[in-house]
Amino acid sequence: MPKAPMAGHEIRQTFLRFFEQRGHRLVPSGPLVPEGDPTLLFANAGMVQFKRLFLGEEKRGYVRATTSQKCMRVSGKHNDLENVGRTPRHHTFFEMLGNFSFGDYFKQQAIEYAWELVTGPLGLSPERLVVTVFRDDEDAHRIWRDGIGLPAERVFHLGEDDNFWAMGDTGPCGPCSEIYVDYGKKPHCTNADCNPSCDCGRYLEFWNLVFMQFNRDASGKMTPLPKPSIDTGAGLERLAAVVQGVGSNYETDLFRGILARAQELSGVALGSDPEKDVSLRVVADHARAVTFLVGDGVLPSNEGRGYVLRRILRRAARHGVLLGVERPFLYGVADAVIDEMGDAYPDLAERRAYIADRIAREEERFLETLSKGLALLEEEIREVRARRSGTLSGEVVFKLYDTFGFPLDLTEDILRGHGLTVDQAGFDAAMGEQRGRARAAWKGSGEKAVGEIYGRLASVHSTRFLGYESLELENPLRAIVRDGAEVESARKGDAVEIVTEETPFYAESGGQVGDRGEIRTAGGRITVEDTQRPVEGLIVHRGRVVEGEVRVGEGAKLQVDAEARAATVRNHSGTHLLHAALRRVLGPQAMQKGSLVSNERLRFDFTHDAPLSEQEIERIEDLANQWIESNAPARIRVLPYKQAIAEGAIAIFEEKYGDEVRVISFGDFSTELCGGVHARASGDIGLLKVLGETGIASGVRRIEALTGAGALLHLRQQERTLERVAALLKSPVGEAPARLEKLLEANRALEKELEKLRTERRGAASGDLVSQARDVAGVRVLAARADDADGADLRGMVDDLRQKLRSGIVLLAAEAEGRVTLALGVTPDLVGRFKAGALIRELAEIVGGKGGGKPDFAQAGGRDAAKIPEAFERLMALVEQGA
Ligand code: ATP
Ligand code: MG
Repeated sequence: MPKAPMAGHEIRQTFLRFFEQRGHRLVPSGPLVPEGDPTLLFANAGMVQFKRLFLGEEKRGYVRATTSQKCMRVSGKHNDLENVGRTPRHHTFFEMLGNFSFGDYFKQQAIEYAWELVTGPLGLSPERLVVTVFRDDEDAHRIWRDGIGLPAERVFHLGEDDNFWAMGDTGPCGPCSEIYVDYGKKPHCTNADCNPSCDCGRYLEFWNLVFMQFNRDASGKMTPLPKPSIDTGAGLERLAAVVQGVGSNYETDLFRGILARAQELSGVALGSDPEKDVSLRVVADHARAVTFLVGDGVLPSNEGRGYVLRRILRRAARHGVLLGVERPFLYGVADAVIDEMGDAYPDLAERRAYIADRIAREEERFLETLSKGLALLEEEIREVRARRSGTLSGEVVFKLYDTFGFPLDLTEDILRGHGLTVDQAGFDAAMGEQRGRARAAWKGSGEKAVGEIYGRLASVHSTRFLGYESLELENPLRAIVRDGAEVESARKGDAVEIVTEETPFYAESGGQVGDRGEIRTAGGRITVEDTQRPVEGLIVHRGRVVEGEVRVGEGAKLQVDAEARAATVRNHSGTHLLHAALRRVLGPQAMQKGSLVSNERLRFDFTHDAPLSEQEIERIEDLANQWIESNAPARIRVLPYKQAIAEGAIAIFEEKYGDEVRVISFGDFSTELCGGVHARASGDIGLLKVLGETGIASGVRRIEALTGAGALLHLRQQERTLERVAALLKSPVGEAPARLEKLLEANRALEKELEKLRTERRGAASGDLVSQARDVAGVRVLAARADDADGADLRGMVDDLRQKLRSGIVLLAAEAEGRVTLALGVTPDLVGRFKAGALIRELAEIVGGKGGGKPDFAQAGGRDAAKIPEAFERLMALVEQGA
């Protein structure tokens, strides 16, 4: 009987075990969102978590490693989004198996290991395999031919595109050698010398062996790495297709359950229609991607990683519509993903409900506008066709984006199906215009006039920020704005906004508040309360003239409030440490959602499901303070934007950054893209104290903290409060809690005692009252005043009296501080005839108030105590009438 093919998870196991047995450390997958590398959106290969090891910037206790790495290829240098569903071998999310040598073994050993594994434990027949090597890599050629014994016609030399690997445009790189399966000549292939670079489908690449030798910089220059290294990557899904002998990744067991769920939920079977098959595969692929993204802490948003998630999810939702599903369903497919992968990735299983919930919400949100957007798009497509044009106008594409939430690539995807394209320039222009409008309506001034002023000022002036290096400098006043208009001068008392060409004042951005300080001229002085950047390139100092007069053109001395700035700096660097500590303690899904850094405090919002426990908060505080104690110097690098991205980063909303980006790191524990001002070393922060933690939206928590002198002050105040408490308790601080507990206990005993006495007194009082009951038309009615009693007492007394009367109606009235309280009870035998609630409503009116209650008991309040006797009379009358 033929052996059952190896299952996907067995292939993963076999691969990792093979290398473990050969001295490789089994390292867990790095997170999808790379840690400490703000320039890269997602891990796109196994080597990402080892980048610094290749560069020789970091050493670990091993020189060989093996991993199964979660990868995404949806942006940047490696972007396969458009291939997904259309080729049998591309995914957005996939797992990359790899083995790594950090300056240990090189080419020969790497090739031998790979060959041994694929032809041995993985059971591929050697005759079906071919390999490629880089152009002039004779070494590699020789190893394959002489060492392994592959015939020369099965070793192909290819160029840079195929056989030179790099994570991004800069960073570690080198020539590579790839292993392919040869599926035999394709009848449709017209390529005379078809080779592995041909896309006819004859050859399937499944394993890439990279001979890491260089570090490429932004200018393209390559410097040799400290030691030649090995980085290999084999897609698990492709390996599974090859090992299981199926024609496509989607036919492997890794996708079986997921596709089954997609078919079940859509009611469409695979094989019924080729286009529907594409949709089913896209849905299956995207369900894996969104499951892992949400699992790693990414939430749908309008920028960065969150936008990638949104785009993938909306694309999947639209394919759902193509399958005839117009309700949220992807979350159900995600559930099948977790069934499939939960063993290998236990966090997914733990977060199952959360993941489903997040996906379903985003699906719901998009479905609200999806069908309207699609209707608009269809109509536009008909028009474009009628005009015999091949492109859809940028304005329409923008409208779809802006009003209906269609990401650009979703519209493109739909148009592609009709053989149409997008007017990209028109779309960019419409987007640019919207940004311009948004900028004009800058925060703090909804007024168009002011927006215009700044727009105009910015066209003449631009401000250079020099405040990273200095806190004061001299520079003439270039413009003064008062009451929304440009003026030549301003005098004492005027609220002004000042523009200069250079400034040490930091304008609010990235969560850090604007600097405060002072501007002095020969004839006047301005206190600056805030600094803003209303338009790109223009910094505005807001404040008030407090002395004399200031004029445009005059020389001025600009001076930042150094103390406030120092405190802000501590809080900002503290925020970075807090962020790093949060991620260490809670996991990488704790992602920044926002922050506020002022001189007084810091606030940090992040994604997380549950309130933090006391222990978690303590661990976060401890970690941050350990890093502070280590006094790691800040490393600030300003890289050209291009280079930063080239190092692996792709920003989606590129305009968010200028030409240059700053990367701030402290030691090896914190690295962030940030334009703010920072401490010279972590030790400057002094101390970090978390004040508290709350939820601000579902899945988003907020932490507030203090640093440095602010933290000390807070602790001191706490200490003073405690000392006062202790003094009041007349006990040493340490004994205060025990003392207080005792006191509370004594208090509880006294309350009980008091309650007992009250009950007794009530009993006595009602005993006296019961004799005042009158007989009215055969019903015993008692109406009396009980002025000492409060609400609870009254109720107790009414109960008492009802019992004592056995059958009857009781009305008590109490007067206190001009207000009247009435309480009325009816014994059970009479509730059929007299309803307490109804009676009291009438009585309440008499004393000028309102009331209500149940048939056996009701209460009312009123203002007119003088009418109490009248209310009593009325009750008698009502009973007389039989109510
Ligand atoms: P291709 O040319 O087929 O897109 P690649 O050259 O981009 O592949 P590498 O960057 O060398 O691939 O990645 C190493 C391995 O990772 C590949 O051999 C393949 O097994 C797997 N892989 C790469 N991209 C994908 C993807 N989008 N989906 C699934 N597996 C992939
Ligand atoms: Mg590729």
